[in-house]
Amino acid sequence: MPRRLLILGSTGSVGTQALETVAHSPEQIELVGLSAESSWEALIAQAQRHGVRRIALADPIAGARAAEAWTDGEVLSGPEGLVRLVVESGAELVLNALVGSAGLGPTVATLGEGIDLALANKESLVVGGELVTALAEATGAAIIPVDSEHSALHQLIAGERPGTIERLVITASGGPFRGRTREELANVTAADALQHPTWSMGGKITIDSATLMNKGLEVIEAHHLFGVPYDRIDVVVHPQSLVHAVVDLCDGASLAHLGHPDMRVPISYGLHYPERVDVPVPRLDLAQAGSLTFEPPDMETFACLRLARDAAAAGGTAPCVLNAANEVAVHAFLAGRLPFLGIAEVIEQTLERLPAKRIHAFESLYAADRDARAIAGELVESLAAAAG
Ligand code: MG
Repeated sequence: MPRRLLILGSTGSVGTQALETVAHSPEQIELVGLSAESSWEALIAQAQRHGVRRIALADPIAGARAAEAWTDGEVLSGPEGLVRLVVESGAELVLNALVGSAGLGPTVATLGEGIDLALANKESLVVGGELVTALAEATGAAIIPVDSEHSALHQLIAGERPGTIERLVITASGGPFRGRTREELANVTAADALQHPTWSMGGKITIDSATLMNKGLEVIEAHHLFGVPYDRIDVVVHPQSLVHAVVDLCDGASLAHLGHPDMRVPISYGLHYPERVDVPVPRLDLAQAGSLTFEPPDMETFACLRLARDAAAAGGTAPCVLNAANEVAVHAFLAGRLPFLGIAEVIEQTLERLPAKRIHAFESLYAADRDARAIAGELVESLAAAAG
């Protein structure tokens, strides 16, 4: 029997590589749906190439265009279209590779239906970690991380008994600005930041890597996935990106997960778990790699990691506010409307103006997300006005 798979965010970097993985998989995987944010032409081309009859676009305007242009199948649109695609898919596995907090609704829909989730959308856990993991527990759906560090942790922890894990360590490449001072970062541009040294990823996540916010989000993600308290999750900068994560055990042993930085590996793991299949990536040659180096992150220069840790400690709506403010600030930076150091400034001030509240239901999160976006948007405007 083929495995029935639905891919959300199939036109992005992870989604495109996932389609390649499916096409070359020795397992029979049936694609029951594809979706994207707004790139409707690319999505239709994918549906035609892979014989998919049902697609969804989060952006209603893009959805309308797609429905006009494509008559071989059904087009759903808007955030509720994505949810319908999930709920009516009959999928056994959903890969959520959407970018940003827009991934939360489809994550909730997937887990609510008891469908296993291969999760590349870390924001789902950053924003709604407590509720999302509780929902998965209630319906028995599994969450298999696709983020490379968390995939590594998932593999390292799989063979260990509960209670033996002392500490989790996730590695950071340090991004394109590793070693620079604050003064040197004042005038860097989006083009500078998009030169990622080791991982090839989408725009948003590449900027998050440059600010180290990506690692901050990943600490929160790891906390929810593995139930480890924040003071036992560390970040270490490792510029070669060959070690992805380390697990310290109670007997003094430490287990590390290694491999070339290539998203095809965690994607294949997430789509085939608990099986493994051959993936045509270069094999690791340690003698050729030479030396592996490690250093502590510079949390003074890269304030976003500190802000994420503080928001995680505050709990409640704080990580949701952090994430929303970050999305607005990164978008403004990419558009050339905010300086690099302004990203952390917008996030910090948004967090100050919206103190953490307790979360009662998903509605509390949607409200916090909305409020944070409004305030961060105002802050971006006032910083832009002050600058020029
Ligand atoms: Mg990662």
